[in-house]
Amino acid sequence: MDIFGNTDPKKMPQHLFFGALAVHQKTAIRASIEKQNFSVCPRHWYIDADFKCERCAREFTWTAEEQKAWFEDYFFWIDSQPRHCRECSGELRRHLELRKEYDATVATARDHGTPDQKSRIIQIVSELQQVIGRLPEKMTQTKELFEHQAKRHAERAAGGSAG
Ligand SMILES: [Zn+2]
Repeated sequence: MDIFGNTDPKKMPQHLFFGALAVHQKTAIRASIEKQNFSVCPRHWYIDADFKCERCAREFTWTAEEQKAWFEDYFFWIDSQPRHCRECSGELRRHLELRKEYDATVATARDHGTPDQKSRIIQIVSELQQVIGRLPEKMTQTKELFEHQAKRHAERAAGGSAG
C-alpha cells in the first residue's frame, strides 16, 4: 500500500512540490523519514525540482541533495520550499548580516566611535547602497557625517590648517 508516496515518488502529495515548474522523477533518492521534522506527511523521496526565483525570476533547481540536507541535517519543517535561487539567497543573507551589523554598532559609532568603527559603518552603507540602491535617509546621513568627520580627522592628522 502506498501512503504519501512511500513506494512511488510519483505518488508524493503535490503540496510537497507546490509551485514547481518541473519535478524530475528519475532523480528521486530515498529519504530517511525518521530524521525529518513532520507531523503527518513526511517526504519519502527527495527529487530534483525546478522553481522560479521570486526575486530575479530565473529558473533554478532545488536538488535532491539539497533537500536531504534541509530536512535531515538542518531539520527544516517538512513543508519548507525554496523561494530564491542560490545567488539571491546568498545576497539576501549578506544584506541581512550587513544590516544587523549596522544596527548593532551605529549608535556606539555615533556617540564615541573610533575612526575604525566609523569607517566600518561607511563601508557597510556603501555596500548596501550599491546592491539595494535607495536606503533610509538616516543611514545615508550617518554615512555622510562619518565621511565628513574622517576627512577632518585626516586633515588634522596631516597637520593641515583645517579647523
Ligand atoms: Zn534569484
